[in-house]
Amino acid sequence: MKRALILLLIIYTSFLSSVEAQEQWCLTPSGISPWLKAYQANPQDHPTLRSYSGWDLPVVVHITEDQNRNQAVSINDLTNAFCKLNQDFAPTGIQFYIKSIEYLVRPDYYEHRQIQTAVSMIANHSQANAINVFFVKTAVEEGICGYNLVDQDRKSLGMTLAGSCTNSFNSNWAHEMGHYFSLPHTFNGWEGIIHDYRTPAPELVNNVPVERSDGSNCDAAGDGFCDTPADYLNGRWFCAEDGASSFLQMDPTGASFRSDGSMIMSYAQDGCSHKFSPKQISAMQNYLVSERVNLMGEPITFSAIRPNQIRLVYPAMAEQVGYTERLRFEWERIDGALGYILEVSLLPTFAVMEQQLFTFTANLSVDGLRPNRTYYWRIRPFNGKYTCPVYSIEQSFSILGQTTNIQEPKNLAVLRVLPNPLPLGMQPAIEMVTITKDNWFLTLRNAAGQYLYQQSLTLMPGQHDLLLDINSKLTPGIYILQVKNRKGVATRKLVVQ
Ligand SMILES: [Zn+2]
Repeated sequence: MKRALILLLIIYTSFLSSVEAQEQWCLTPSGISPWLKAYQANPQDHPTLRSYSGWDLPVVVHITEDQNRNQAVSINDLTNAFCKLNQDFAPTGIQFYIKSIEYLVRPDYYEHRQIQTAVSMIANHSQANAINVFFVKTAVEEGICGYNLVDQDRKSLGMTLAGSCTNSFNSNWAHEMGHYFSLPHTFNGWEGIIHDYRTPAPELVNNVPVERSDGSNCDAAGDGFCDTPADYLNGRWFCAEDGASSFLQMDPTGASFRSDGSMIMSYAQDGCSHKFSPKQISAMQNYLVSERVNLMGEPITFSAIRPNQIRLVYPAMAEQVGYTERLRFEWERIDGALGYILEVSLLPTFAVMEQQLFTFTANLSVDGLRPNRTYYWRIRPFNGKYTCPVYSIEQSFSILGQTTNIQEPKNLAVLRVLPNPLPLGMQPAIEMVTITKDNWFLTLRNAAGQYLYQQSLTLMPGQHDLLLDINSKLTPGIYILQVKNRKGVATRKLVVQ
C-alpha cells in the first residue's frame, strides 16, 4: 500500500508542476491507461456491445462540510447534477443511482490544497463496490472543477468534484465519470502545454503524437479515438453557435481546423459539451464489463416519481396558522424516496425562494417565516435513480399576526382521536375533556384540505366520547381534526392505515 501511495504521489507531483504552466479545470492525470492502450490496439478482441442492456451502477455521494456545517454542495444542485449525469450517459446504456448520501464534517477535506489530503479522504471513507464521489468546496485550487484520484495503472480510486461546478447545466460530473471509465481528454497530450495556436503544432506534445486535422494518424495520436476530431485546446473555451471553437488551430502540416465543443471530454464550456463519441461509448462499456464488474450487482428497481403521488399534509391548503418560531411541515412519505427538498416562497412561481431545505424524513421544522404573510410551499422528492425535478402541486398558507392568539383553548383539558392509527373501514371516535360549558366546532379535513366532517355542539364540563359519523369512507392517509371555540383551536393528526 505504501509503495502504491508513493507512486500515486509521483504521478500527481509531476502532474501538478505542469498545472502552474497552464490553467486547468480538471486535475485527472493525463495519458492513456494501460487498459485503454491494449483496447485501442486490438479493438477486434473486444465484444461490440451494441445491444448493451444497461446497468444501474451504485454511487456513494460524500458531502464535505466545514466547521460551521456549510456544505460543499446543496442537495438541490446535487440532484440536478445527478439528473444531468444520467442524461449525459443515457446513450451509453450506463446509468447510475445514488446508493447513499454521507456527510463528512471535515474542514480539511472541504477546502483541500494538497492531493495528499484527497488520498487519505478517499482511502478512509470510500465504500466497496460503489463509485465514490466526494464533493468539496476547493479541490486543490480555486477554479478546479474536479479530478479522479488514480492508481499506478491509472485506474480511478474515486473522484472529487467542486460544488461550484455541480448544477443542472454542467457536464463536469459526466466528464469525470468519463475519466473513471478510462477516457482521456480529447486533447490528450496537450495538458499543461503553452502553445501559440497561430503556428503549426509540433509532431509530439508530452511524447504523445499530435493528431492531424484530417484524422490520418487518429488511431495512434491524441486520445486514440478516430471519431473524436483533433483538439489541442487545453484551457476553458467557449463554443460558437455551430458548437465549434471560435478560433483556429493549426496541425503539424499547417492545415487549420476548429475543435468540436460537443465532446464531453473536451474543455469546452458548459452548454457546449453534451456527448461521447460511439468509440468512446464502446470503450466505456468494455471497460465496465472487464474492469468494473464489481459495480454490477443485483439489479435494483426504481420507480419514477409522479407529481400526483405527492400529498402535502400540513399546513393544509389555504390554512391560517398561528405565528410560531418553528413551523413544522408535513407530507406523506413516498415509498423508496431517498429524500425530500422542501421549498417555501412568497411567490406561487417559486422564482425567489424563502427556504429550500433538505430532509431524509417526511416532515421538517422551518425557522424564520414571518407573520402576516401568505406563503407557498411544495415538495420535491427523489429516489436513488430519479433525481430530476418533480414537484408536488404547490399549496398556500398564511401565518397570522404575532398578536393573534391561536393557542389551544384553556378549557379543553384533553383531545384525543381513538384509535389512532385508525384501521381502514372503522369510524374514528374522539375523546374530549372540557372544564367549562362552551360551544365547540369540530372539523375533519383530508390532506388536500377538503372538509369531510363538520359539527357544532355545546358541551357541559366533563368527559365526552363522540363518534364521528362520516359519510364518505376514509381512505388510507393523513387527516386533520380541529376543535375550535372563541378562544382558540386544537389540532390533532389522524392516520388511517
Ligand atoms: Zn478531465
